[in-house]
Amino acid sequence: MNNEMDSERSINLFERAQRWIPGGVHSPVRAFRAVKGRPFFTESANGCRLTTVDGVELIDYVCTWGPAIHGHSCPEIREAITQALQKGTSFGTPHPDEVTLAEWIVKCVPSIEKVRMVNSGTEATMSCIRLARGYTGHTQIIKFSGCYHGHVDALLVKAGSGALTFGYPDSAGISQDVAAETLVLPYNDFHALQEAFAQHTIAAVIIEPYPANCGLILPRPGYLRALRQLCTENQALLIFDEVMTGFRVGLGGVQEREGVLPDLTALGKIIGGGLPVGAFGGRADIMDQLAPLGPVYQAGTLSGNPLAMTAGITAIERLKKADPYKTLHQMGATLRQHLLATAQSKGIPLQIPHSGSMFSLLFTETPVCNFNTATTSNTELFSKFFHYALGNGIYLPPSPYETCFLSTAHDAAALDQTITVLTQGIKRL
Ligand code: PLP
Repeated sequence: MNNEMDSERSINLFERAQRWIPGGVHSPVRAFRAVKGRPFFTESANGCRLTTVDGVELIDYVCTWGPAIHGHSCPEIREAITQALQKGTSFGTPHPDEVTLAEWIVKCVPSIEKVRMVNSGTEATMSCIRLARGYTGHTQIIKFSGCYHGHVDALLVKAGSGALTFGYPDSAGISQDVAAETLVLPYNDFHALQEAFAQHTIAAVIIEPYPANCGLILPRPGYLRALRQLCTENQALLIFDEVMTGFRVGLGGVQEREGVLPDLTALGKIIGGGLPVGAFGGRADIMDQLAPLGPVYQAGTLSGNPLAMTAGITAIERLKKADPYKTLHQMGATLRQHLLATAQSKGIPLQIPHSGSMFSLLFTETPVCNFNTATTSNTELFSKFFHYALGNGIYLPPSPYETCFLSTAHDAAALDQTITVLTQGIKRL
């Protein structure tokens, strides 16, 4: 299926890209295979809009897969990076901004007492697992089907996001021994958790507290609290992967919103203000097991990069000042309401799980509460809908299992245009 947009330069670039880059992309979901299309190439991005190399303007609901909560090319973030650039791009020594960003994270995220910067969400979750094993002396971990925690060997088991989209949630290249150290449970199922704890000694449970990589899934009332209690009773560490939700559902992430505190938290995306960053943090007694204080080794040449730190600080300061979360939630709710009403009037089965500035579009009549229910969605219908939207100026994530994001740059005009196009898209299915 071709994208219904004028795309000659994109087509030529993609042909070139495929010669030199596996699949023509540096991250699989970008290839548009889940929607049987080919990617467009972006020339520039501003506010809530992308401009393709073919000059097509698109309202963007991917927001660079989550980081761009202030939209693209936010003037304050750009200015902060420009100023930092005058001082140098990497020092390899401590510098003031990495302390400031650490202070912001500790101030905002309730369970974090100490934090260390890394360069991606994957590094953050990988480091959490190692630290949990080093701290507890145990190896077995629990994850949940459909949750994606980056491309860490131990966590690419029944994973979501691109791994799910392309039908290999269990990646080749991961030894059986490593995979065997990961127990995979269904999300939102308390009894499965109880049974696992009864049968195994667990080092850590890692969870996206609001899973957002097999569509968006929300926890049943009391589920996260019960999980916290089981971890405490069994002396296992609870790791919240808030790479996606951190600073997106609120300054303090899901943990603040739900009032459930993990032992360790993985962060990424928004805390880099659009530059490559991750971080992990938690209780001081656990974090102090890291080298150079303790025996758990972890390091990074570019960790705490000055440009990324200043971008992250500016992004967080802007969130603190504007407190946009209610407005973003309201925008998401309005969009959801219009789409659901249209779908209902046309007899199209559609679920739109929504929280704050995050929502997903799953064409199924089954309410979504875990991996099994999310994957009942009709992917052909999504594909058709995606291409209609794209052909009419709206860029949705190119897979039903990815989450859509709103930003503070999505204004009323953009929202109105989106509602018009997407409701029309549903009517045409
Ligand atoms: N954890 C979650 C919840 C994610 O959504 C992602 C990426 O989408 C990651 C971890 C991995 O982050 P990165 O792609 O920065 O390695």
